[in-house]
Amino acid sequence: MIGKNSLFGPIDPAVESGYSDPPARKGFFTDTSVCIGCKACEVACKEWNAIPDDGFDFLGMSYDNTGALGASTWRHVAFIEQPAGRRDGGSSAPVDLGMPSIRTSDGDTAAEEDGKPDFRWLMSSDVCKHCTHAACLDVCPTGSLFRTEFGTVVVQDDICNGCGYCVPACPYGVIERRKGPEGAKNVGIAQKCTLCYDRLGAGMTPACAQACPTESIQFGDVDELRRRAEERLEKLHADGVQEARLYGHDPNDGVGGAGAFFLLLDEPEVYGLPPDPVVTTRDLPRMFNRATAAAVTLFAGAVLSFLGRRR
Ligand code: SF4
Ligand code: SF4
Ligand code: SF4
Repeated sequence: MIGKNSLFGPIDPAVESGYSDPPARKGFFTDTSVCIGCKACEVACKEWNAIPDDGFDFLGMSYDNTGALGASTWRHVAFIEQPAGRRDGGSSAPVDLGMPSIRTSDGDTAAEEDGKPDFRWLMSSDVCKHCTHAACLDVCPTGSLFRTEFGTVVVQDDICNGCGYCVPACPYGVIERRKGPEGAKNVGIAQKCTLCYDRLGAGMTPACAQACPTESIQFGDVDELRRRAEERLEKLHADGVQEARLYGHDPNDGVGGAGAFFLLLDEPEVYGLPPDPVVTTRDLPRMFNRATAAAVTLFAGAVLSFLGRRR
């Protein structure tokens, strides 16, 4: 049943979609503070899902060669190179997390006087957020996008008609229609991460989380992952990493909380994430109510003017 809060706010998405006794909601907690940028997740995703390559171009963006999430990149590992004192040595100046740093010709690690590295890499493996309120799913006219019993959002290739309505609806720019290469499967069809629905059904861990060597990508029950994320945040703050923050974990945010959420080491914009995403269908009921009120007013005006003319 559609409740009055069904387009925003905290809900259990599987129950809201009609599953009577669904399993616990599944998702990802991606802890970017331990990502080493190895891209095993990107490769595992491509292998398991037989996703075609999307070019081997050098983008000139650090070690990032896929650029962004897209129809053929369901996991994207961002590499953000950040100089020291990015904000005049403010609180966001790099903290040594033991990450790789640059070495000078004599073999020493390039460092500032205080012993901290003079730049850092922020690495983050991005993915579909499997939103609690998924606008992609709300606007899909064919039912190709659907909510699974695990609370995740999946596209059915054989039902999608390629209309592309879901593409601008996603507040994160995740879903995209495949443009090529010519002859590849599902060209023209909307594509994105399925949270390995086929593997979940068999009781397996998603391929990307299975391949991650540092457990940066943690898979599990969303409630448990939220608890772990809070603990990790507290630990990082206690260790002096004050810039650490959670992103997408809050069920009261604009998408009702993401099924795939993140621990970031800087503001979301630095990682190419929207700072305050809102499900694009949130205001539809209010818009329909106002459009209906306007139509009724116009109709009443027309009737009154017609009656007035007959007197
Ligand atoms: S992130 Fe975008 S594509 Fe993924 S579920 Fe949310 S709205 Fe849909
Ligand atoms: S959950 Fe599966 S489909 Fe989604 S990014 Fe990971 S490997 Fe790819
Ligand atoms: S596999 Fe893990 S450590 Fe490697 S890039 Fe992906 S998230 Fe980072």
